[in-house]
Amino acid sequence: MSEIIPLASVSTGSAEPFRESACKTHPQSMCPAFGALRVLARMEGVQPAMITDTGCLYGLTFVTHFYAARKSIVAPSLGTAELSSGQIQEAANLAIAEAASARNVSVIPVISLCVAETAGLSEELLPREVDGKPVILVRVPAYAIHSHPEAKDVALAALMRRLTVPDAAIEPHTLVLLGEVFPADPVLIDGILRKMGARTLVTIPGRHIDELMLASRGAAVAALHPFYRDTVNLIRERGTPVVGGAPIGADGSAAWLRAVGAALELDEQRVEQVAQEEEQTARDFLARQPLKGATVLVSGYEGNEMLYARLLVEAGAHVPYISTSIGKSVHTAADEAWLRARGTEAIVYRKSLEDDLKALDHWHFDLVIGTTSVTAASKERGIPSVYYTNILSVRPLFLTGGMVASVSLAQELLERRTLYTTMQSFFQD
Ligand code: SF4
Repeated sequence: MSEIIPLASVSTGSAEPFRESACKTHPQSMCPAFGALRVLARMEGVQPAMITDTGCLYGLTFVTHFYAARKSIVAPSLGTAELSSGQIQEAANLAIAEAASARNVSVIPVISLCVAETAGLSEELLPREVDGKPVILVRVPAYAIHSHPEAKDVALAALMRRLTVPDAAIEPHTLVLLGEVFPADPVLIDGILRKMGARTLVTIPGRHIDELMLASRGAAVAALHPFYRDTVNLIRERGTPVVGGAPIGADGSAAWLRAVGAALELDEQRVEQVAQEEEQTARDFLARQPLKGATVLVSGYEGNEMLYARLLVEAGAHVPYISTSIGKSVHTAADEAWLRARGTEAIVYRKSLEDDLKALDHWHFDLVIGTTSVTAASKERGIPSVYYTNILSVRPLFLTGGMVASVSLAQELLERRTLYTTMQSFFQD
């Protein structure tokens, strides 16, 4: 592929520092509870019962099935009359009984949303189990859980707290991957772990409830995404080592492999050799700096935006602005520090569309990888733009294989600039 020569070679459009908006209550994405539903509606052996009013039910049923739910959602029909007459508890219990009667179900998560929480759904009055099937409350009202990635964490932690045991027999030299990742990523990771004398045990949240039980047998857990805070706390409470960060790019992959080697107590020399080989392969690819000179905006609500930004930066791009729906935490600190040390000026947590639009005015971008609204606005400006969720995060990301896939895509997108400017002038005329 040819070298990128960006049109917008001056990246900063304003001398003033960028200032994000003050409002941080809602990141303007879909209902945060979607994250919990997504995880639970894709897991075999689980039948969620969702307790909310009919409006939320309609929207969440639509979006959950749009994103590949594998089952129906059991829910009572709760309107104003039912809620104001105090029938929520009875309605919840009926929905739980219906969920328990579904075929091949062994666990019933009860997803409690804004309306159920404010109407006073009481955990003490829910059955603890029905026909021997555990009933597990998952509280994800949007006023407490502000983004859908964080709701995934709440759901997973609630299930693991109830279903897994602290003293499970450990399988030596096995690693559990924590995070919803592209299917090729665990395969790439397992391949390199085997060279170090280890292997992946399972990736959670997975496709079957039994995988959670299996996860408690891992010798260590790798938290690949920074928003699994409750789950990581639970795993640490139970004495299992947790490796933070992810095998991202040349710097990140080598450091991650060494950290995994230490957590699994692998042979140091063997780990070092594999880490150095992986780093060298990555650096060989990066040597020609395929994104050199390009200025890229990264905006998403998946919670893994900084990982992609790191790859772009290592490939030579300038990424002055990154925004995400998740909150800042100790788990985001390392990626934030790495990016700030390499020229990222603004990292906005709990972002709003206004933040992203302001960033479009503040810098001159050659490529925008963002949410639907911001990519629409940047296409109007003739900037190559793609939707983060459906285009970028459906490709491998980790180790050299993932890096090549993701960086090559960004390079191809940059080469489409003429198409965008032609489209812009067509509509302007
Ligand atoms: S009211 Fe709460 S649970 Fe219902 S759709 Fe809105 S944010 Fe989601």
